[in-house]
Amino acid sequence: MKQHSARVSGLGTTIFAEMSALAQRTGAVNLGQGFPDTDGPASVIEAAVEALRSGRNQYAPGPGVPELREAIAAHQQRFYALDVDPDTEVVVTTGATEAVAAALLGLVDPGEEVVVLEPYYDSYVAVISMVGAIRRPVTLRAPTFRLDLSELRAAVTPRTRAVLLNSPHNPTGTVLDAEELQAIADVAIEHDLVVITDEVYEHLTFDGAAHIPIGTLPGMAERTLSISSAGKTFAFTGWKIGWATGPAPLVQAVLAAKQFMTFTSGAPLQPAIAGALSLPAEFFAEHAAGLQARRDQLCGGLADVGLDVHVPAGTYFATTDIRPLGYDDGMQFCLSLPERAGVVAVPHQVFYDDVEAGRPLVRWAFCKQESVIDEALNRLRGAFG
Ligand code: PMP
Ligand code: GLN
Repeated sequence: MKQHSARVSGLGTTIFAEMSALAQRTGAVNLGQGFPDTDGPASVIEAAVEALRSGRNQYAPGPGVPELREAIAAHQQRFYALDVDPDTEVVVTTGATEAVAAALLGLVDPGEEVVVLEPYYDSYVAVISMVGAIRRPVTLRAPTFRLDLSELRAAVTPRTRAVLLNSPHNPTGTVLDAEELQAIADVAIEHDLVVITDEVYEHLTFDGAAHIPIGTLPGMAERTLSISSAGKTFAFTGWKIGWATGPAPLVQAVLAAKQFMTFTSGAPLQPAIAGALSLPAEFFAEHAAGLQARRDQLCGGLADVGLDVHVPAGTYFATTDIRPLGYDDGMQFCLSLPERAGVVAVPHQVFYDDVEAGRPLVRWAFCKQESVIDEALNRLRGAFG
């Protein structure tokens, strides 16, 4: 019997699952997969419990429960002054992952090209491939990981349909600035492209770096599908409540695909996230500030161990160049790290077509308790210090 379709046979196992399994098997401290080791706000958990107990346990409407769609629209207005109609311009999804998949399925045809930032989030590549489309990576290169505007322009061809952006960017921590975003917007408008923008780390920026949604730039609202998720903003990665917002035809395209993948997403968690999105500004600021402190703790410690550290302006992740420790291949380094030091990290190279650009780079997650980061750093100092 044939075991796999051609569509999935080349995809392998996601690096995040692979590295978390390695951490479990070896008892290593897991700074690989990006998930917090503490829960989000207790009040939000209580709201979910209340919803579970009060009969909100049957299918939600396909686009999401009205109070969550209204809260998402209100959030876009409150933080970005974006006007979003909760009835036609919002769809709730099973995490940002489903939103990205449904967007690509709903908007891109086989043979069309998608420009994507590299290093890329691994699901982008898998879904672009399952769609039968072609990826055109634009590399954010070490040591600054900024967007090269000439590489961007060169990646666009007559077959380009969409730009799939991610800012704040996983894994580099780059927060695209106004100039970079304007350059992308200029290209999108000139070539009449759709922009799909994954902004799951929108509230996790540091040192005052401003997250600018590309949909707020002149002429962009009508061609931008914005994606986010409760996972990162509220530290509930296991809830898998995400969403996409944008002009009704783009949202309709997402919904057209989504209805036949999941039909609808976790009903009782949706009212709880509606409440979370309405939390006061201090919640968002304090969450980012707490994370920034752990970023500094991890980055300082990694530098002490001798790694060349790129301090990120956003996300859960710091990137290091491992060559000062005498290694040049991040994959080999990460596979041997549990035995050598009792720590798990993620090699960048799996996120590149240009593997050489990522070979010496390794990503470390700091969305962990201070004591866990301390333990990881002690182990690394023991191994390399
Ligand atoms: N996009 C990016 C850039 C991510 O880092 C992640 C992982 N957290 C996701 C999408 C997936 O988000 P979700 O868990 O909401 O599906
Ligand atoms: N986004 C998380 C990361 O980059 C992992 C999510 C997943 O495992 N799919 O580590």
